[in-house]
Amino acid sequence: MDVGDPLPKPLDAIERKSLLYRSGLGFHCINHALGCSHGCRYPCYAFLMARHHGRVRDYDEWCRPRIVGNALALLDRELTRKRVLPDEVHLCLTTDPFMVGHPEVGEMSLAIIERLNRCEIPCSVLTKGRLPAELADRRRFPCDNTHGISLVSLDEGFRREWEPGAAPYGERIAALRRLHAAGRRTRVHIEPYPTPDIIVQDLSAVLAEVAFVDHIYFSGWNYNPRVSRDGATEAFYHAQSRSVRRFCAGREIECEIG
Ligand code: SF4
Repeated sequence: MDVGDPLPKPLDAIERKSLLYRSGLGFHCINHALGCSHGCRYPCYAFLMARHHGRVRDYDEWCRPRIVGNALALLDRELTRKRVLPDEVHLCLTTDPFMVGHPEVGEMSLAIIERLNRCEIPCSVLTKGRLPAELADRRRFPCDNTHGISLVSLDEGFRREWEPGAAPYGERIAALRRLHAAGRRTRVHIEPYPTPDIIVQDLSAVLAEVAFVDHIYFSGWNYNPRVSRDGATEAFYHAQSRSVRRFCAGREIECEIG
C-alpha cells in the first residue's frame, strides 16, 4: 500500500472446491478472488460472465471483491495430487492479482507464486495495479516468471473513466520498469486498445513508455457498442498493429497481435 491510499477494509472470504484449472484459452490459471475493485467499464468480460452465471448481482458487487480464503490449502492439495504439473500458471484471468486497495489479495498472489515456483512452475502475472518490488527477489521467486501490466493509454482522464479503480498509468509503468531493472522478464498488454471514437491518442507515445519490455501483446476493443467493427475500425487496427510490429522488430521485443 502507498502513502495516500485509503485504509483497506478487510475482504469477505469465499471458499472454493478447486483452484488451478486449464482455461478455454489453453493455459493454466488461478483466480483467487471473486470480483475486482478496478471496476473496468470496457466492460470487463469477467464481470459479464460472473453476472451471467449469478456469481455477482451487479457492478457494485463486482467492485467489492471477495477473497478465496482456502486458496493456498487448495493449491497445496492440487499440486500434491497432480501427476503432470503445468508448464506455467497465469494469475489472473478473471480478477486482478495486485488490485488496488486490497493488499491481502496481493499477499496471497505472492504466496501462490512462491508456492508454484517451489515446484519449479513459473508464473505469468498481469495487473492494472502496482507490481510489488518483492517479485524481484530471486531467492523467494527463483523461476523465470513474467511480469505484465495492462496499458492502453497514458491519459489519466481516460483511466478514470474506463478503469476507475486501477492504478495510475505512471505507477504501473514505474513498477514494471523496476522489475525490468532487476533483471526480471516483463510484458505489456495493450488491450483493449481504444479507437479514435473513444479517445484520440498517439500509440507511439504509449509504446515509447514501455520500450524496455520483453514482450508486447496488442489487441482491439470488443464488447462495447461505442466501437463499431466496421471497415474504418478494421483499417485503424490494421495500421496500429503494423506500428506495433515495426516498433517491436526494431528493438527485439517479442510481438503478439490478438
Ligand atoms: S482489472 Fe481486469 S478483472 Fe479487474 S475489472 Fe479490470 S478487466 Fe476486469
